[in-house]
Amino acid sequence: MAGNKKKKTKVRPLLARPGARYTCFGDGLCCTDIHGIGPLTKKETAEMRRIDRKSAGWDEDHEDYMLRTAADGGCVFLMPDQRCSVHADLGPEAKPEGCRRFPLGLVATPAGGRVTTEHRCPCRTMGDRPAIEPETVEPSVSDGGSRLIADRRIKRIPLRAKEHLKFSEWEPIEAQYLHRLQSREPLLRILDTEPFPALRGSSWEKQADEFIAARDGTQFGVAMAWVGDTMSALESGRSPRPPGRPWAAAFDRAEARSPKPRTSREVFGDWLADEVWSLKWAENYHFALARAELATRLAIGEDICGRLRKAGVRPDRAAAEAVMMLEVVGESEYWTDIKDRMRVS
Ligand code: SF4
Repeated sequence: MAGNKKKKTKVRPLLARPGARYTCFGDGLCCTDIHGIGPLTKKETAEMRRIDRKSAGWDEDHEDYMLRTAADGGCVFLMPDQRCSVHADLGPEAKPEGCRRFPLGLVATPAGGRVTTEHRCPCRTMGDRPAIEPETVEPSVSDGGSRLIADRRIKRIPLRAKEHLKFSEWEPIEAQYLHRLQSREPLLRILDTEPFPALRGSSWEKQADEFIAARDGTQFGVAMAWVGDTMSALESGRSPRPPGRPWAAAFDRAEARSPKPRTSREVFGDWLADEVWSLKWAENYHFALARAELATRLAIGEDICGRLRKAGVRPDRAAAEAVMMLEVVGESEYWTDIKDRMRVS
């Protein structure tokens, strides 16, 4: 009988998170060496090389096909006005899929396709942006035609180590979280868990040393050093000595186009709401662990934000720069290792 059928995941209708806002202002951050620009498929590599023979190829460090960067760390196709020359000359469909999608994503659920956004980009985190409309973003999360491509499929929700919910049971719980994350309530109180849980076979001090040692000359390395230094300082109580400001030029542009600052609470709340909505955590972890992991990154981010604000940086920009670092580091294998070690049941 139809009523007994297990709910399958689907990508339609497209669903945007209420309150999520984004448009590309060309702040020019995503086309720089966040860590490396890619990966590309072999076909995309060949297409990019047809436009410029030296623009893409095998990268030993990433063990994948990647776009090449110019001396300033930006993609070779980035023009001085921060626009993409592939997009400008040949249209958005000509860009590699990763470029076409970023910072958007799609998760298939039993209720439809959730449009997700990364916050590694001031176009997502700063300024007066329009609400995300599913029909507007559809070309970015499709194969260039009408087929929507999901990054992941989530059917059931792991609430704790041994407790799973049906998606329909999760939705009202999640709605409460999303509502509170967009209020003025203290964020750590909403997450309702302690940051920095015990780690299996390691310590936060040891992890912090590894983060600081990961400096590799890229902007990613600088973000790693900021996060590592802050983890160490929060554990030991010493004052950190922050290393440079990654991607400052892109945030300068974002600040100049955003006359009305938001509060740092709004920027962090918006980020956390998208982290919950993305359901990335549900692929490999449960929600109790996700809350502890997010509380930890939030504690690190608020500390970074506080130091930037003391140095005179505008509240929304200070939070947006911190969120940028938290997301870049959060996507790395270093942070995955930390999540795997967290003792949370
Ligand atoms: S190909 Fe275009 S969109 Fe992709 S990284 Fe290069 S400049 Fe940016």
